[in-house]
Amino acid sequence: MASKEIPYKIYLEESQMPKAWYNLRADMKNKPAPLLDSETKKPITAEKLQNVFCKELVKQELDENTAYFEIPEAIRNFYKMYRPSPLVRAYCLEEKLKTPAKIYYKFEGNNTSGSHKLNSAIAQAYYAKEQGLVGVTTETGAGQWGTALSMACSYFGLDCKVYMVKCSYEQKPFRREVMRTYGASVTPSPSTETAVGRKILEKHPGTTGSLGCAISEAVEAATVKEGYRYVLGSVLNQVMLHQSVIGLETKAALDMYGVKPDMIIGCAGGGSNLGGLIAPFMGEKLRGEADYEFIAVEPVSCPTLTRGKYVYDYCDTGMVCPLAKMYTLGSDYIPAASHAGGLRYHGMNSTLSQLCYDGLMEARSVSQTEVFEAAEFFARVEGILPAPESSHAIKVAIDEANKCKETGEEKVIVFGLTGTGYFDMYAYEKFHDGKMDNYIPTDEEIEKALSNIPVIE
Ligand SMILES: *Cc1c(COP(=O)(O)O)cnc(C)c1O
Repeated sequence: MASKEIPYKIYLEESQMPKAWYNLRADMKNKPAPLLDSETKKPITAEKLQNVFCKELVKQELDENTAYFEIPEAIRNFYKMYRPSPLVRAYCLEEKLKTPAKIYYKFEGNNTSGSHKLNSAIAQAYYAKEQGLVGVTTETGAGQWGTALSMACSYFGLDCKVYMVKCSYEQKPFRREVMRTYGASVTPSPSTETAVGRKILEKHPGTTGSLGCAISEAVEAATVKEGYRYVLGSVLNQVMLHQSVIGLETKAALDMYGVKPDMIIGCAGGGSNLGGLIAPFMGEKLRGEADYEFIAVEPVSCPTLTRGKYVYDYCDTGMVCPLAKMYTLGSDYIPAASHAGGLRYHGMNSTLSQLCYDGLMEARSVSQTEVFEAAEFFARVEGILPAPESSHAIKVAIDEANKCKETGEEKVIVFGLTGTGYFDMYAYEKFHDGKMDNYIPTDEEIEKALSNIPVIE
């Protein structure tokens, strides 16, 4: 068959690498709703956002009309160290599943930080440096973002201050040390270093923390310290813009061999890798040039798109960030402590939320034991030890490939393999020891977290 001529790994030549990021919002008829000022509840101004975020990144955040943003040369040079990432034809997986489906995955784990997060970290560090800042502050949950940002900051000689969700800080000491190796300072969150941290500790003593709460601390630290700004590794539209490099490379690689995907699958935490992967394909769909099925996969224990509400909500527990209209479980929502599989954020990128709301993308939730079963199966068949987050996409890709086996359809399935799982062995251990449960939040619990959502008329 002709398909066998497709190499196991498709790499682009340096000259074929994207020179501009693609802003999907430019092609949307229904644009995502604007960010609102958390005090006035009116659309937030660039001026106000610049107190928290870097100037150029604010511009990217608010621009919904410019389709392409040139990637500065310094960032393209950094990308060359670990990009293009391979687009892999999963021949071994197809054979093992005995499926007629053709499966491809875009592997973003081939860099020291171990995930796609470096694509945006280097861009954000670059703009901070350009602005003449001393450093940046941020939060990290599982640790990938903090690691990526510390790498990016050390490359440009910026100070990097990371608030790490306390349970990860304790469970992942090696992640912490990687960050420190790159010169970052790492504080477990909630901490007593910030006013918002102290307030959260008072309200929830003994809490193991959440992303929303670490965000609040990092934002406060950035606004209090001279020469610092806050940077965020997911959720925002600027992050999705930088991550479009994933989708642009994927599309260029597939186009090279004349392959058109039927279905594109990605895991969704805050939505950046999924948004970046689907961007050029969704753009074609929005312009009526092609059609694809898109599937966002999330955990049953943090079911933002599948059980959340599409409303304005706070992006952080401390309610200091602007309000975004998005699918949300409420900024007070903290997934069960037994949830080890990542993707713990209560909200979702506003662009992806709008696309879901408009029925242009489907969302599914999967349980963490199913996810780890898929992860282990994939590790044994394809060799790569996947991150738990990425394994949500693997699980649904396998489900879809199995459906093709029943129907005999030769669908082309593309999924995002966002990272490696070497620092998640504690979660793998729980799975292997049979100690992993599948906690599904009750309707009452979700209602309760949603009851704190601000009322915007
Ligand atoms: C952060 C992360 C995710 C989820 O973040 P998104 O913004 O939804 O992409 C997924 N996979 C890995 C490996 C991550 O580090």
